Amino acid sequence: MSMFEDIPVDVGVIYEGERIRKNQMYVELGGPKVDKKFELVRARSMDEVEDGKITIIGPDIKDMEPGSRHPLGILIEVAGKEVEEELEGVIERRIHEFCNYIEGFMHLNQRYDIWLRLSKKSFEKGLNSFNIIGKVLVRLFKAELPFIEKIQITFITDPDKVAEMYEEALKVYEERDARARGLKDEEVDTFYGCTLCQSFAPTHMCVITPQRYSNCGAISWFDARAAARVDPKGPLFEIPKGECLDPVKGEYSGANEMIKKKTLGEIQRVWLYTAFGYPHTSCGCFEAAAFYIPEVNGFGIVHRGFRGQTVNGLTFVAIADSTAGGRQVDGFHGISIEYMRSPKFLQADAIGEWFGKPHGGWSRVVWVPSEVLERVKDFVPPELLDKIATEKDVSNVEELKQFLKERGHPVVETWKEIEEAAAPPAVEEAAPPAEAAPAAVPAAVGAPTITVGGAGIRLILKNAKIYAEKVIIKPASSEKG
Ligand code: SF4
Repeated sequence: MSMFEDIPVDVGVIYEGERIRKNQMYVELGGPKVDKKFELVRARSMDEVEDGKITIIGPDIKDMEPGSRHPLGILIEVAGKEVEEELEGVIERRIHEFCNYIEGFMHLNQRYDIWLRLSKKSFEKGLNSFNIIGKVLVRLFKAELPFIEKIQITFITDPDKVAEMYEEALKVYEERDARARGLKDEEVDTFYGCTLCQSFAPTHMCVITPQRYSNCGAISWFDARAAARVDPKGPLFEIPKGECLDPVKGEYSGANEMIKKKTLGEIQRVWLYTAFGYPHTSCGCFEAAAFYIPEVNGFGIVHRGFRGQTVNGLTFVAIADSTAGGRQVDGFHGISIEYMRSPKFLQADAIGEWFGKPHGGWSRVVWVPSEVLERVKDFVPPELLDKIATEKDVSNVEELKQFLKERGHPVVETWKEIEEAAAPPAVEEAAPPAEAAPAAVPAAVGAPTITVGGAGIRLILKNAKIYAEKVIIKPASSEKG
């Protein structure tokens, strides 16, 4: 029986994580093939909101062709004595969770990137109107976030209206993000944690600091602070910062203690400003991912909306799969777009000084989709801008190498070391005395982790430099022979 008797499908936490494949879907709303879509929460005054009101602008679900795809905007307006602008982002993030409680209704991502599907099965059971979905959301929001005294929801499917409101939504997101800029991690003594995504990734916890925005790009430090205050038992909570153990990598004793506690010991340490060592975990909702490209000793970045293959031949989905699920994977790192605007962005992975001054993590970035570069270009050191390739400049790693060399990207300075490392040791008939020859050849430089797989074991060497006089690579069959 349904949690709500007047709702034709079941509603409950057990449906979170339910996936609806293409052949099971009745309609798709938003998603990668629809350009304009959004969800937005606005804080209003009490007299601006009619509690429980649901409005639909454009075709309702029952008017849609089976198998069709539509733009969608969800506008939720809330009011209450404790409701303030700083709570908008956090309330908005719960749309994802509450939609996923509805049997046969899937919601992915956030903000301008939402992707929803309704299953044929639930449509046949009678879930055929946004009115029903709206009713469920109203009840869940009021039950779970009691500081919301009034709530009204508008679903927009009319393409022109979605396009018009999409532009407004982008402005609101930008204003929210800009509000959070300027404050430094060093200036606060409390960070915030979020475990909202643990239903998908049980060992994931976001550490939200003023200069490290949440992975989903939807919750700033200010948003998290406001949420922890009004909903102290909710998924956002305070993390007393504790002692700063490493200001460059971003290791804090308080964050370590909290992540240990919240992941039941699975994750022991977290370094906030690097993709190596103990990087921040990634759930699955990150807006973008940084991926290490060993051939050039630099990072590529790919965002969720990027269609096609990145410079190393992998798609966003393949890269996301390498890091999602609450793991710490060296060189693969889920991030938000806003974090790319932060001075702490991959700060520990920067290429030292260049042109006589440090350039932060951007000095290690070699490839970014043009759409992302456009969005963050004001935060990239200007002397690096034309040295970072996009999909318009190169299409594979060989072309990338050439591009970086021609433009004089700072990573090129590091290649000599790598090339020397990769060069086979000279073999001479009469070998010089041991002391005259290099005592050892570094087999790997700049790759903080080496993973060796096979034979049912996995050997991970973290931050290792391996010196070998000789490297022999034999096919496995020769072992037997
Ligand atoms: S990505 Fe992080 S901040 Fe965003 S909802 Fe998930 S756990 Fe919370």
